[in-house]
Amino acid sequence: MGDPTFDLVVIGSGPGGYTAAIRAAQLGMHVACVEKYPTLGGTCLNVGCIPSKALLDSSEHFTFVQHGLAAHGIRSAQVELDLPTMMRRKDQVVKELTSGVAFLFRKNKIESVAGTARIAALGRIDVTGGQGARTLATRRILIATGSKPAALPGIAYDDRRIVHSTHALTLPEVPRRLIVVGAGAIGLELGSVWLRLGAQVDVLEYMDRVVPGMDKKSGLLLQRALEKQGMKFHLRTSASAARVEGDQVAVSVSEREGGASREETCDVLLVAVGRRPYTQGLGAAEVGVQLDERGRVVVDEHYRTAVDGISAIGDVIAGPMLAHKAEEEGIAAVERMAGLPGHVEYRCVPNVVYTWPELASVGMSEEEAAEAGLDTAVGTFPFLANARAKTMGEREGQAKIIADAKTDRILGAHILGPRASDLIAEVATAMELGASAEDVARSVHAHPTLPEAVKEAALAVAKRSINI
Ligand code: FAD
Ligand code: NAD
Repeated sequence: MGDPTFDLVVIGSGPGGYTAAIRAAQLGMHVACVEKYPTLGGTCLNVGCIPSKALLDSSEHFTFVQHGLAAHGIRSAQVELDLPTMMRRKDQVVKELTSGVAFLFRKNKIESVAGTARIAALGRIDVTGGQGARTLATRRILIATGSKPAALPGIAYDDRRIVHSTHALTLPEVPRRLIVVGAGAIGLELGSVWLRLGAQVDVLEYMDRVVPGMDKKSGLLLQRALEKQGMKFHLRTSASAARVEGDQVAVSVSEREGGASREETCDVLLVAVGRRPYTQGLGAAEVGVQLDERGRVVVDEHYRTAVDGISAIGDVIAGPMLAHKAEEEGIAAVERMAGLPGHVEYRCVPNVVYTWPELASVGMSEEEAAEAGLDTAVGTFPFLANARAKTMGEREGQAKIIADAKTDRILGAHILGPRASDLIAEVATAMELGASAEDVARSVHAHPTLPEAVKEAALAVAKRSINI
C-alpha cells in the first residue's frame, strides 16, 4: 500500500508549525509535519525563546544571590558560578519541552516526518535525510519554515568567537569582554545573561536608541537600568569588520554617518542584527510562490500564497518575528482552511524583552499614536509606589497606558518593571475586548500585587491615581 494522501502537510515544527498541526488535527484533518532538525519545536524551543529564558532565569538568581539577598537579611557565603551545570539545566528544559511536542503529535495522531522537505509539485513534497527519501502526497501545504540569523557584511561567523544567538547560548566560558552588535531583543537579553555572569558587555547600536521599534521613553528607561547594571551602550555605532586573532576578536567599530572608526578587541563578538526568513532549498519559488524584496513569503489575509493549496505563517511571512504571533497565525490559517473565521488581532500582539526589569508592550506607542493623528490621554504609574514591588525590593520602571482621549479606548501599554511579561497580558486581553482605560481602572485587582500598577496607570489616564 502506498503512502496516504494527507489533508495537510506542515513544513517546520516551530511554534507556528506545531501549533497549526495540532489545531488541524483537532479539526479532523489527517496531518503530517516535516522537520529537518532532530528535535521538534523549531527556533523557539531549541535555540531561541526557551534556552535564552532558561539562562536569563539562572543568571537572575546568580545576580540576586550576590546583590539582592543581603537587603532581605540573608547572608550568603561566597557565591560561585557553575556554568556547566547552568548549561545542562538549560539543555534539560529544552529537552523536556521538545519531547513534549513529540508527545502532543502522538496524542493528536500527527505523523512526524524527519527530514528536509522540498515542494516538488502542487500536492507533492519530497523529503530527504531523516529516515530515507520519501514523497508525501497532500491536499494542502503550510510553509512554517521560520527564520535564520542575519549576518553583517564583512563579518563572518566562526561559531566560537564571532557568533550569532545560537552559539551565544552555549559559550563554554564567560567571556571577559563581549561586544554585541544590535540593541534589539537578542542583544539585550543575551548581553544581560553574560553581563550577570561576569562579562564586560559593550553594545553597538546603529540607531540612536535601544529597542528602536518600541516606545521611546520606555526604551530610554530600560537603557538607564541596564547601564546601572554595567552594560555600556554605543549608539549610532556599528561594526564594519571583524577578524579572529588567537583567542581574541579585533572589531572595526565605526560611528554612523562618516564618523570616526576605531579598533576594539573582545573575547566574543555577538552579532544580533535581526533574522531573515528561511526558504532555502524549499522549492517554493519554483512552484510559483511569491517572495517579497526581503525574501518573505507573500500571503493574503487567509495566509494563502499565490499558489492554490499552499499557505504560509510565522517568521517566514511579514510581521513581527515572535513565537506567539506564529502560533496564532498557525491556528488562524488552518481554521480558515476548514472554513472557520480564524483571526489574528495584530493590534494586540504583545512584545516583551526579558531583561531585568522586563520591557513589555502592546499596541501603539505614544509616537505611533501621534503619527496617526490621534488625540491621546496617557497614564503612568511607577513601581516605586506599588506595594508588592516594594516588598520585593523592586524600585525601577513604570506602567504606562495610552488611551484615546475622546473614547477612552486603550490604544497601547508599555510596562517596564518586574514581571512586565506577565503584566502585559491583562492589557492585551483588555484591548482584544475593546476595553476602555476606565474598564481596567474599575476592575478589582488583588492587593498587594504587581498588576495593581497597571490598574493605577489606567486610573492615571483620568488623572485619578490613588497611591501617588
Ligand atoms: P521557527 O521556530 O524558526 O521554526 C521553523 C522550523 O522549520 C525549524 O525547526 C526548521 O528546522 C524547520 N525547517 C525549515 N526549513 C525546512 C525544510 N525545508 N524542511 C523541514 N523543516 C524545515 N520569540 C518570542 O515570542 N519570545 C521570545 O522570548 C523569543 N526569544 C528568542 C530568543 C532567541 C535567541 C531567538 C533566536 C528567537 C527568539 N524569539 C522569541 C523568536 C522566535 O523564536 C520565533 O519568532 C519563532 O520561533 C518563529 O516560529 P516559526 O514557527 O515561524 O519558525
Ligand atoms: P531586532 O530586530 O530585534 O534588533 C536588531 C537590532 O540591531 C536593532 O536595534 C537594529 O537597529 C540593530 N542593527 C541592525 N543593523 C545594525 C548594524 N549594522 N549595526 C548596529 N546595529 C544594527 O533583532 P534581534 O535582536 O536580532 O532578534 C531577531 C528577531 O528575534 C526579532 O524579530 C525579535 O523580535 C525576535 N526575538 C524576540 C525575542 C523576544 O520576544 N523576547 C527575543 C529574541 C529575539
